[in-house]
Amino acid sequence: MTTLRLILGDQLNPEHSWFAAADADTVYVLMEICQETDYVLHHAQKIIAIFAAMRDFARQLGEAGHRVHYLAIADPANRQALPANLDALIAQYSASAFEYQAPDEWRLDRQLTDYAKQLAIPGRMVDSEHFYSTRGEAAQLFVERKQWLMEHFYRQMRIRHGVLMASPGKPLGGQWNFDHDNRKPWLGLPREPADWRSAHDHSALWQSIRQAGVASFGEPSAERFCWPLNRAEALQQLDDFIAEALPHFGDFQDALTYRAWRLFHSLLSFALNTKMLNPREVIARAVVAYQSGHVPLAAAEGFIRQILGWREYVRGVYWANMPGYEAQNCFAHQRPLPAWFWTGETKMRCLAHAIGQSLEHAYAHHIQRLMVIGNFALLAGLNPAAVHGWYLGVYIDAFEWVELPNTVGMSQFADGGQLATKPYVSSAAYIDRMSDYCKGCHYDKKARLGERACPFNALYWDFFARNSERLAANPRLGMVYRQLGKISPAALAAAQGRADQVRAGIENL
Ligand code: FAD
Ligand code: SF4
Repeated sequence: MTTLRLILGDQLNPEHSWFAAADADTVYVLMEICQETDYVLHHAQKIIAIFAAMRDFARQLGEAGHRVHYLAIADPANRQALPANLDALIAQYSASAFEYQAPDEWRLDRQLTDYAKQLAIPGRMVDSEHFYSTRGEAAQLFVERKQWLMEHFYRQMRIRHGVLMASPGKPLGGQWNFDHDNRKPWLGLPREPADWRSAHDHSALWQSIRQAGVASFGEPSAERFCWPLNRAEALQQLDDFIAEALPHFGDFQDALTYRAWRLFHSLLSFALNTKMLNPREVIARAVVAYQSGHVPLAAAEGFIRQILGWREYVRGVYWANMPGYEAQNCFAHQRPLPAWFWTGETKMRCLAHAIGQSLEHAYAHHIQRLMVIGNFALLAGLNPAAVHGWYLGVYIDAFEWVELPNTVGMSQFADGGQLATKPYVSSAAYIDRMSDYCKGCHYDKKARLGERACPFNALYWDFFARNSERLAANPRLGMVYRQLGKISPAALAAAQGRADQVRAGIENL
């Protein structure tokens, strides 16, 4: 009576109750398949990191006495798709039951539900034992409210889970949110902490991935590789973050700089999203760091809000809107991505840096993703589905449940404002205030017209002018529309002419 248990590549949680005791009647299955490498074009580091972490997980399970069947990408028995491999393994082990952990992506959830339904043996889904909230919890909270608001969800989560609370209903420090303290540009000090670096050699794995014909882009180099491959390494990365970066996380959370690639961000999203780390333990560490006086409340709260608030909230948005969310396009933007999204070769210094480091590290921090790359994509009218495909492929932490709402909702406002209360766009003024990008840029941050005018400036006013019917009544945009009203019709027409020119010449910006 053998049970076959499937472990997906983002379910590498050795603390799951499945693994509490070894059982000779259970076979754990992990598989490297083209179905998962090829649904979008992925960054090389993402494929390497996930496969290497899966291999390490399988090794550790075996060492702990569990029975494991691992299908490597180059294994001749590998049929490269979940159902075909599962059929073969169920037959090989004469399995009498099939079990899997709840997938986080709608596409896999659908596929495995359908697969389990048609089996002649019982098929069962179990909880992944990872998130604070259930798939439908956010939707239940907002069922009688017109507008979804992350802040409302976050406060409920704080109360419900007793995180940073002075007493029931009262937040520590008398404030729920210290966002206003968290908006400093970074002027070079304190120094960016040293990167956590992986010591593994991935060259043999990379070769077998290439031999299997898996297409990819971005830098596969081991020197750049700073993604943990197992829980022990992820815990080390967490320790380093708490010790060195968390004290400054709040202050420089929104900063942008040409001189550093991660600033004081944690780089923990890969370990969290592959479930090597549990969000509860990460939050508990931040709370202890505050209680012991190691970090100020604003830093701990700012960091915890990202995980207990945003991370859980976007997951709720995803499950409330799938399928269909991936096709949202409220502005009907259709422009394809310019070729420099794949090379970083543009004269716009902010984009060259943010895209360049994405290709080099498979990582950009939140403000680069939102206020540089996403900002440009929305202002330029790039197709949100194409933007979604790029973000899903390029980032080490990109899994659809978290990437899609962030890209299509928060960054492209393509859902018409379900996730974000206003479009996150800016002219050069914001980028200049928060960064050192504009000094030394080919373009003039102050100019709106002319060949050397920063493309963001004309695109920004053109965006609000084009979309006034949809956006002018938004209370969060009152000031923008008052400013727009002060621009003379002739000046606005000239700016819109420059915006047309920018879009027409987008490949050569
Ligand atoms: P830190 O800044 O150190 O934040 C700590 C943790 O908070 C992160 O590890 C992450 O788990 C969580 N977090 C922070 N912001 C968010 C958010 N908006 N949504 C969900 N979780 C959040 N995050 C992903 O995990 N995968 C993605 O594919 C992804 N795509 C994004 C696309 C766009 C357009 C934007 C604007 C944001 C995206 N994010 C995504 C959210 C965020 O940018 C990343 O989680 C973060 O940059 C990861 O780096 P870090 O671990 O250093 O984060
Ligand atoms: Fe970016 Fe414009 Fe500043 Fe250049 S001037 S770095 S394009 S915002």
